[in-house]
Amino acid sequence: MEMKSVAIIGAGISGLTVANILKENFKVKVYEKENKPGGLIRCERISGSLFHICGGHVFNTKRQNVLDWFWSKFNRDEEFQKSDRNAVVYLNEELTVPYPIENHIYMCDTEFQKSVIEDLLDITAGEKREPENFEEFLMQRFGKSLYELYFKPYNEKVWKRDLKKVPLSWLEGKLPMPTVNEIMFNNINKVKEKEFVHSTFWYEKRDGSQYIADRFAEGIDIEYNHEITDIRHIDGKWCIGSETFDIVVFCGNIKELPAMLNEDILSKHREEIDNLEYHGTTSVFCHVEKNPYSWIYMPSDIHRSHRIICTGNFAASNNAEGDFTATIEFTDYITEEEIKENLKKIPFAPRYIAHKYNKYTYPIQFSDTRKLIKDIKEEMEKKQFFMTGRFVDWEYYNMDVAMDAAMKTCENIKR
Ligand SMILES: Cc1cc2nc3c(=O)[nH]c(=O)nc-3n(C[C@H](O)[C@H](O)[C@H](O)COP(=O)(O)OP(=O)(O)OC[C@H]3O[C@@H](n4cnc5c(N)ncnc54)[C@H](O)[C@@H]3O)c2cc1C
Repeated sequence: MEMKSVAIIGAGISGLTVANILKENFKVKVYEKENKPGGLIRCERISGSLFHICGGHVFNTKRQNVLDWFWSKFNRDEEFQKSDRNAVVYLNEELTVPYPIENHIYMCDTEFQKSVIEDLLDITAGEKREPENFEEFLMQRFGKSLYELYFKPYNEKVWKRDLKKVPLSWLEGKLPMPTVNEIMFNNINKVKEKEFVHSTFWYEKRDGSQYIADRFAEGIDIEYNHEITDIRHIDGKWCIGSETFDIVVFCGNIKELPAMLNEDILSKHREEIDNLEYHGTTSVFCHVEKNPYSWIYMPSDIHRSHRIICTGNFAASNNAEGDFTATIEFTDYITEEEIKENLKKIPFAPRYIAHKYNKYTYPIQFSDTRKLIKDIKEEMEKKQFFMTGRFVDWEYYNMDVAMDAAMKTCENIKR
């Protein structure tokens, strides 16, 4: 019997995972609008140093199925290295405290320590009620002093809005949940980040996360530089240009989908899809002063960036000889001129090399978003049109969760 044919739209980690799993039982073709695989995990070399075009991707997961599958594609100990997280919060020239800040109050000045202790006592004495927004949540967990010093200014830069206007549904499952007891215990015992789960990560010895994308793309039929704008459903088959497929797996962006399909498909969801909210990221590649950190969080409102990702520390091969590089992250679009103005105010003396703006990086979820996506997926699956990925599921996936979701989608397809 002839193998069924599958068109996969998008060669990010989601599309590449689907392609690798389905290629055993299906005739697979991937369409990718860029000139290489990886989507958000793409990297470029500039004058010998490695630029993650979005953030600075590292790999870790608690999901055993993902670990087993992922490591079946690599020789782990030869191709990857295990690194410790060494994240810090840069408060000012005199004070840089390890992350998470609430475990390191003992490093702050005496007055601040006293006010945090009072806040924590108030939290335990106060009456418990469900927080209604992000500000209330943070105030109830950490108290006013830590909120004002760090959580408020940092998160306002990330979310670009008043934290009272950030509903908790946006952050479901992603919120820090330390109790007052834990905060006290960790401070008294000076517990280091290293002692927590997730305090280590895997990183490629060469070429950063592009290395993953390149390996996953090996042996797959991928047509690059081909942006799909039109997918027609005709007589139970899917037509893309002059080619016909039994099945489509869409791993692009759901916002672009209604306009690609026949008029009647998804028309009733068009408005809701248009209304989905998101943020973008401007990633700025810089030379920086040598430092021992992996991530530097910056609450200061003197400049607009919220963190430095010290990609130059992730692998020796990430820096050209004698150089030391990092990626500085800004929420949404910012011009080159504004970037350069901001860099003057950012610690570790960053010097501009290049930047890249990615329009879609952080999907924003409202309480009804999951249901909308589920309904659309169910409707489309009846037509043998499957969907998976960060901007299809409109979920705040990390690579491992994106791979897990792609694996589940493949199980559905094979059924
Ligand atoms: C700043 C930042 C830092 C992050 N850091 C980490 C980290 O350290 N570790 C981690 O595990 N995860 C991290 N993530 C999450 C990770 O980037 C995502 O989970 C993952 O890359 C999503 O992959 P995807 O394939 O679903 O989507 P994408 O990477 O967006 O892939 C979609 C692909 O589809 C292509 N495409 C779209 N539309 C079309 C079309 N019409 N025709 C053809 N091609 C199309 C795109 O070009 C792209 O290649 C981070 C995310 C951000 C934003």
